[in-house]
Amino acid sequence: MTQTTPTPAPIRTRFAPSPTGFLHLGGARTALFSWAFARHHKGTFVLRIEDTDVERSTPEAVQAILDSMDWLGMQPDEGPFYQMQRMDRYREVVAQMLEAGTAYHCYCSPQEVEAMREKARAAGLKPRYDGTWRPEPGKTLPPAPAGVQPVVRFRNPQTGATSWNDMVKGPISFDNGELDDLIIARPDGTPTYNFCVVVDDWDMGITHVLRGDDHVNNTPRQINILRALGAQLPEYGHVPMILGPDGEKLSKRHGAVNVMEYDNEGYLPEAMVNYLARLGWSHGDDELFTRDQLVEWFDTRHLSKSASQWDPKKLNWVNAHYIRQMADGELAARVAPRIHKRGGKTDAVDLPAVMHLLKDRAETLEQLADGAMLFCGDFPGIPADLAAQHLTETARVALADFALRAAAGEWTREALSAAIKAVLAERGLKMPQLGIPLRVAVTGQQQTPAIDAVLALLGRDVVLARLGQLQD
Ligand code: GLU
Repeated sequence: MTQTTPTPAPIRTRFAPSPTGFLHLGGARTALFSWAFARHHKGTFVLRIEDTDVERSTPEAVQAILDSMDWLGMQPDEGPFYQMQRMDRYREVVAQMLEAGTAYHCYCSPQEVEAMREKARAAGLKPRYDGTWRPEPGKTLPPAPAGVQPVVRFRNPQTGATSWNDMVKGPISFDNGELDDLIIARPDGTPTYNFCVVVDDWDMGITHVLRGDDHVNNTPRQINILRALGAQLPEYGHVPMILGPDGEKLSKRHGAVNVMEYDNEGYLPEAMVNYLARLGWSHGDDELFTRDQLVEWFDTRHLSKSASQWDPKKLNWVNAHYIRQMADGELAARVAPRIHKRGGKTDAVDLPAVMHLLKDRAETLEQLADGAMLFCGDFPGIPADLAAQHLTETARVALADFALRAAAGEWTREALSAAIKAVLAERGLKMPQLGIPLRVAVTGQQQTPAIDAVLALLGRDVVLARLGQLQD
């Protein structure tokens, strides 16, 4: 008989945001890790919207999450699934657990439970539900009070420990004695948070859960419920949080935390993916890698155990790299809408050439758009103070000379540079003595990129018209 090696179960990861606001950087980063892990293993990345908090969940927030994932190029293979559409399934599992005896009805009112907790606290014990309604062999339960809708509690093991080998943090263990008999359904039958997560991870066949380490305390509860259901346990990995540059938890105080705000501010999704991935994960000393390399290299062993720090300067450096790397035409296509927003026009301008000129110095698409307004915006005129300072009589004569020479030649950067040099030589001037008046006269600014390149891009008609006006 031939031996066959069992094929390993295909990897299935999920991102499970609660749609209560925009997608923040921390959420985007965990999503990215789950996405990259699934892609690396040719597995499946599931998107699940945890919208059971109806007070705080909104369709706008769902849309914002979808838009952000789309922008970052993390499209799910399955989903979005919505927990609110799975209520029947949760109720079904609650019923099965009641039937199996792994869950039970508890008729204690919230006030009674609070009193139990208070009593435990007073006795110096961990505040917890005292198990009044927990069925035990040989124990007689009190009669169910009339007219009270019970909650359903999970019959958590009371002895032993619940342990797992966390993909990020290593071995973690909780004493079962520390864990309450968790409420899994409220008096009106609605399931609770941890229970929905468990049923979903089970039904969706999730093999690897990567999430923020604010969920570590939920994990032993979820594992125990999964075990009670006879479900295969996923592997868990809890990623430490992101801190601001001052070491505090990253928040609005540190700048934008909404992923889409980075789109507004002119960051490339390629750069965001690179930067976010590197924030808490490493591949040797590599700081710059493509999306494909991330997928090829991603592993959970190199997820950092310690919190990572948001570094806006490094993000700018990464973004500048992707801007420099991008083809001029592609960059032009991405910057054009930003120029239009500023009231600029791009039809009569060689925008790829403008990008080529500006991209070495730009850190964001917004900076590129600002710079491109020199070529795409209306001439702002010459500020009086600059005119007084730089358009002196000597300068005007030199500018007139330059205009004549430039008009006579070809309109290329090289020819314009030669014309500038000829004027300097003829009149014994230094470069700034012509360069600055030329910038002021033609652009209304004293600082621009290389003036010969600026003149070439502005075009013969524009430059000669603006220089001509000086002589009027
Ligand atoms: N919905 C949870 C959150 O937004 C995530 C739950 C999970 O990943 O298990 O924090």
